[in-house]
Amino acid sequence: MIHEIAPHVFNNEFKIADPKATDFIIRYNGAKTLLKKVDGGYAIPRVGELLALENKALADFEGHYLFSIDDTAFFLDDSKATFEAEAPSGYEYMGNRTFRAMAPVERLGGATATHIAHWESLNKFCGRCGNVTIRGDKERSIICPKCGNIVYPRISPVVIVAVHNGDKLLMAHNIDNPNPRLFLISGFVEVGESLEQAVHREVMEEAGLRVKNVRYFSSQPWAFSDSLIAGFTAELDGDDTIRMQKEELSEAMWVKREDIPEYETDVSISCCLIEDFRHKA
Ligand SMILES: [Zn+2]
Repeated sequence: MIHEIAPHVFNNEFKIADPKATDFIIRYNGAKTLLKKVDGGYAIPRVGELLALENKALADFEGHYLFSIDDTAFFLDDSKATFEAEAPSGYEYMGNRTFRAMAPVERLGGATATHIAHWESLNKFCGRCGNVTIRGDKERSIICPKCGNIVYPRISPVVIVAVHNGDKLLMAHNIDNPNPRLFLISGFVEVGESLEQAVHREVMEEAGLRVKNVRYFSSQPWAFSDSLIAGFTAELDGDDTIRMQKEELSEAMWVKREDIPEYETDVSISCCLIEDFRHKA
């Protein structure tokens, strides 16, 4: 999964630090992140490289530390207006799904740094009193110096569930997913419910099915939707007739174990849940 980057180590404790020229720099324009075009894809630029483009020295750096992976830090660029549209020659502003095609360190680091950048971009002003906010210096937070309002990073919980029915698995395709493959039922947790209750509700809403024996499987961060995803397995309870929610899904069906193709498990928990079912004999 995306957070499993051993032997590399993700260090996300809060601190204030100065950059090295070789650290990664995230320049976020409110929607997309500046990436360098390289053979066959994109790379995250380094601090020294963007400073050199603008004839600046390390001492001129305007940005702040986010976290590090091994000895390389990720910094967020504070030098540019939030909505800069034009990228320097050889660079391009790209959506955060671009990180999915990168190597494990850049994939986790880039997506997570962009998650933080997005949260910061949405909290330049206090939601309570409208005053300009500042970054906290003791923890990852944004503070209103006028009214004391504190805002923490937005992490929206999601549940995903592999519904088993004997040797069949409930698989579905979400209308918003550009990947045409079948995946699993998932959805954001609603206010006032537990993770398990969210599993029951989502399966009923999207497929019209009841489930039992809901069991926790694993979890993963999912920066692409500002989320933390909790994965579960469950068993069909009763009638197996699928009543698909057409506003959310384009397909929903029972798929026999032997008809499920192999899924890559290096990024998403969805694929890990499918592979877990496929390997149960
Ligand atoms: Zn305020």
